[in-house]
Amino acid sequence: MCCGKHTTVDENSLFRSDQMSREIPFRGYFRLRREKEFRATFSREENMKRQIRQFFLVRELLKNQWLKTSQIQDIQQKKLHKLLHHAYTNVPYYRQLFDSVGVKPGDIQTVSDLSVLPITTKSTLRELPLNQITAQNIDLKTCIKDRTSGSTGMPLNFFFTRDDMDIRSPVEIRMLASVGYKATDSTLAIIDDRHLGTTYWFQRLGILRREYISILSPVEEHIKRIQTMKPDIIWTLTSNIVLIASRMQADNIRVTRPKAIYTIGEFLDPNRRRLIASVFGVAPLDQYSSTECGGIAWECSARMGYHINIDTVVVECINNGKHVQSGESGELIVTNLHSYAMPFIRYSVGDRGILSDKMCSCGRNLPLMMAIEGRSVDFIVLENGKRISPYLLTCAIEDIPGIVRYQIIQEAAKQITVNFIKGDGFSPETLRKIQTQCQGVVGKDVEIKPVVVESLVHDKSGKFRVVISKLATN
Ligand SMILES: [Zn+2]
Repeated sequence: MCCGKHTTVDENSLFRSDQMSREIPFRGYFRLRREKEFRATFSREENMKRQIRQFFLVRELLKNQWLKTSQIQDIQQKKLHKLLHHAYTNVPYYRQLFDSVGVKPGDIQTVSDLSVLPITTKSTLRELPLNQITAQNIDLKTCIKDRTSGSTGMPLNFFFTRDDMDIRSPVEIRMLASVGYKATDSTLAIIDDRHLGTTYWFQRLGILRREYISILSPVEEHIKRIQTMKPDIIWTLTSNIVLIASRMQADNIRVTRPKAIYTIGEFLDPNRRRLIASVFGVAPLDQYSSTECGGIAWECSARMGYHINIDTVVVECINNGKHVQSGESGELIVTNLHSYAMPFIRYSVGDRGILSDKMCSCGRNLPLMMAIEGRSVDFIVLENGKRISPYLLTCAIEDIPGIVRYQIIQEAAKQITVNFIKGDGFSPETLRKIQTQCQGVVGKDVEIKPVVVESLVHDKSGKFRVVISKLATN
């Protein structure tokens, strides 16, 4: 997740700040396209057409959720066939993958047939040249690029076509509609700078109003904005809303009760749920998404589990290469049915989960996933007791060139080690940037020690944690 698990607001929100775009040339292919440049490539008419298309997509998705599960699965299957044919025809990596197991796209009739295909991991994609993993019939210059390292601590660049991205807002609106979201409701998104969106003309008129504030700004500013804006929907990283709620509780600050609070990116445990509910008067709803695959699953207000968007993704749960029974924990493998520029087919998202065969009491027939494991990260605890969202540090690091994978370990209040495996683009500057960019988050008093390592540490259960604090009690 953006953190690995970004909630994508819309395609324009995927651009980094100017400062970042200057710093991140991508293997000499492109520099990150800036939002304005990208929008300028479309005429007003084209942008209008896209908005109309998204309107119809919203209608379609809203309808799908009430269809019989078998009917939604038919939609999923049709999209899957189309994607597999496209990947086999246009993406060398997937053609080789199919050929390596002697399978043609037509051999995969159902989702359960998918298991004949080997799983693709982030590290596999990282090692391959771009022209092997992207579609040869799509001009990448017209695509949107994003980059994330997520809970794996392994940065990777992604490409999406406009059509790939157009589904993301409608998926989000379907989720919001489940809490009675209206066009006149306002949303406050507290997210990282790269995902700060722009305001559309209709938002200035108060329709689908959305304001952004950087997660990097102090928690006091987040609270102030919540007080002044009185948003109907608050959207932020789990660790961040926990920090906000803790501060509000400590200082006895009250705010207008929002309609819903959506958490993203990290595990939302019962204690955190209780804290947020007691402070805001409304229990949070968790969303499971990733930059690669968009919105994967979400909680409705019945909170019986996470509804899987099976009309936009395929989620498999496996152990030792085999599908596990519902109710059993396994590795989550996701296929993004709207990934044509750079397909993600049987992609290991690095999390574990439990699929369920229970139906939700809300009446929606999108199947349920019970729990998502593996997104646990520690807070960084400073000497004065202040807790810092771990996400701020991963954000600070993930764009530094020369890092294949990293892990941040807080050894003591004033000492943080950044272990990393070096890669292309590594130079002494990499070390300096790790130090200065991390100190920008935690302060100059904290010693930041970058260390080149051969491998990174997994915990006893085999889980990889990108941020570990030896002081954390969370
Ligand atoms: Zn439900």
